[in-house]
Amino acid sequence: MEADDSDDTGTSKDKRYLYDVGANALSQWIENEEFPPYRFRQIWQWLWRGVNSFDQMTDLPKDLRDRLAEDFVLDHVLLEKKLSSHLDETAKYLWKLHDGETIESVFMSYKAGTSVCVSSQVGCQMGCDFCASSKAGFARDLTTGELLAQVAFIGKDQARRIDHIVVMGIGEPMQNYDHVVGFLRACNDPAIFNISMRKMTVSTCGIIPQIHKFAGEDMPVTLAISLHATTNRLRSSLMPINRLYPLEDLMDACRDYIDKTGRRISFEYALFSGVNDSPDDARRLVKLLDGMLCHVNIIPGNDVPDMPYKGSPKDRVENFRQIVQTGGIPVTVRRELGADIMAACGQLRRSNT
Ligand code: SF4
Repeated sequence: MEADDSDDTGTSKDKRYLYDVGANALSQWIENEEFPPYRFRQIWQWLWRGVNSFDQMTDLPKDLRDRLAEDFVLDHVLLEKKLSSHLDETAKYLWKLHDGETIESVFMSYKAGTSVCVSSQVGCQMGCDFCASSKAGFARDLTTGELLAQVAFIGKDQARRIDHIVVMGIGEPMQNYDHVVGFLRACNDPAIFNISMRKMTVSTCGIIPQIHKFAGEDMPVTLAISLHATTNRLRSSLMPINRLYPLEDLMDACRDYIDKTGRRISFEYALFSGVNDSPDDARRLVKLLDGMLCHVNIIPGNDVPDMPYKGSPKDRVENFRQIVQTGGIPVTVRRELGADIMAACGQLRRSNT
């Protein structure tokens, strides 16, 4: 992992979290400790196979495992609970972090391959009104290693290659920009997960300066904008970020992003009954996105306990989709997976409830 060779690991008693230690730093450590250079490759491979104890590195001699355990830890992200859907192959993982915080990630399996949706922060500061993730407040950003560990451990548990990465779990990825970008680059690294950037999606609620910055990264990752409303009045009430970065400015930033990258933006639009799912909403959406290289992903809104929002009925979802499609905007309705385990969008929580 060349992406995050800086050490901001969150250490426990001066021991560094090995998933946060970059490739250069690890090979330097091996050299300093006078172990043969080929040991680097062995340790590196074990990491991305999802080990969480040095004893699992079975082809390393005991003295090397002991030295590793003196300087590093592997237990910053530990499985607390796993819920497997009875409806499909979706599984939700609740992780306990070394400082007692918890986060969630979701494994999904589609025809196109497997996918992991990771959390990027412990909680979220954005305060979207329909989102369970924001309700327990915000604690901290995740490190690059904590992001990578979610993928490594899920890959190991599922005993499957992970084909797609989605940064749409708990948190606003663009607020943890450097670690998320480092994570995406590391996922793409052939010596780590070797996942094509074209199979990665990162979402934002619309933090304009970071959209501009992301356009300059030269990463063919899909940018998803959580839109969810077509007027400033409604969007500001659903998503407080809109008060800072209103729709017109957001659309300008999206057009700039498309001009600069040549990449299509995915607009996420969750449909909530009687809130944002009328034919007028659909027509305004068409007008807003007219002429833009984009795609609309309709998310049949999910019921979240203790929240006033209810998902739109099927006929309203279909009507909305038809208006958008007739308006010439490419549109799909996302198939919801894991509905029985609260693994869908807006349903992930920071707490184990
Ligand atoms: S929808 Fe995304 S940005 Fe908004 S509060 Fe939830 S996690 Fe944060």
